[in-house]
Amino acid sequence: MTLLNKRILLIISGGIAAYKSLELIRLIRKSGGDVRCILTKGGEEFITPLSVASLSGNKCYTDLWNLTDESEMGHIRLSRETDLILVAPASADFIAKMAHGMANDLASTAILATNKPVMIAPAMNPAMWDNPATQTNINIVKSRGIHIIDPADGDMACGETGIGRMVEATDILKEIETFFFANKPLRGKLAIVTSGPTYEPIDPVRYIGNRSSGKQGHAIACALCDLGATVTYITGPTALTHPQGVKTIEIETAKQMMTAVEGAMPADIAVCAAAVADYGIDAHPQKQKKSNDKNGLDIKFIDNPDILKTLSNHKNRPDIVIGFAAETNDVIDNAYAKLKSKNCDMIIANQVGENSVFGRDETTVTFITQSSKQSYDKISKSKVAQLIADYCVQNNKATSNK
Ligand code: C5P
Repeated sequence: MTLLNKRILLIISGGIAAYKSLELIRLIRKSGGDVRCILTKGGEEFITPLSVASLSGNKCYTDLWNLTDESEMGHIRLSRETDLILVAPASADFIAKMAHGMANDLASTAILATNKPVMIAPAMNPAMWDNPATQTNINIVKSRGIHIIDPADGDMACGETGIGRMVEATDILKEIETFFFANKPLRGKLAIVTSGPTYEPIDPVRYIGNRSSGKQGHAIACALCDLGATVTYITGPTALTHPQGVKTIEIETAKQMMTAVEGAMPADIAVCAAAVADYGIDAHPQKQKKSNDKNGLDIKFIDNPDILKTLSNHKNRPDIVIGFAAETNDVIDNAYAKLKSKNCDMIIANQVGENSVFGRDETTVTFITQSSKQSYDKISKSKVAQLIADYCVQNNKATSNK
């Protein structure tokens, strides 16, 4: 499942090789990727929107001027809400349109409007491929950073032989995997990141919770994903949008977070950045009424699972387990005590209190392991996330045995 959480927009232009794109859709999905397709008018002459939609499990887009499609998912969103655009097959005509910035149908408009990487797999008759017009267009699109999956040599559907065949779907899949993971040091590693607060209900209306914006955990999920890890991000309620390219699981209580973490095991890396409530509540089934006897509200607290400790002592313990220690006083002493009591590999200690850290983009932290202690004053949460990801790269076992 190497393409888990990856989104690919596949543009299928007109050519007999379009039949190979149906197999490609199947392979991308089998590898865990999400694939949306645009079929050009030419493409529709070879395969149908129904087969594309059935195999991709998503609507097949064909028309720039379709009001329903525009209101559901406009062409700009279609071109942006993806991690990669792949044109396969890319006909000589479509490559010419790309080279000259034309935008007279949905597919070419999506290409012109995108801010995402683009890859093309040309397919055409050998004479058309050799034609200086095509070669000039190829060089133009290449010079703009578009990756070309060179066509193969062999027999053509038209009976001629030469360079022009679209490479096989399995080869295109390899190119996609290389694009996402080449030189990414955490490729193949499974990571769990907990983030945000937990809410513990008092009754169906009220809850108690910890303060947490979720910004630090969000940044860690993104940093691990950027280095190629397959990330499951388990978050309590926050105002943040989900990070791109990772699997997000939303929970409310500590118990739900524990269940989600267990469900995401086994993993190679676990980073517990969530502000988990240490106590849950034996919740009242009905909303508690304000009483007049001034005796306050009766709340029974019960122990919550310690997720970090459970992970660190798990029979399938991740190779790397990292926790946080948010403290108001004796920060470093408490962090050392926590490193030991939780049995994790690293604790990131930070001082918290009114108007500090919570919800902000900057923090002051100390990274503590058994053998090292490194402090950073006023550092951005995204930089903290990068340092954690770097630690995972340096301490990562060569192969994932999960
Ligand atoms: O014990 P304390 O809450 O101070 O420990 C903080 C660290 O432990 C954080 O990494 C937090 O995510 C984790 N934790 C947890 N489950 C709990 C309590 C804390 O995973 N029930």
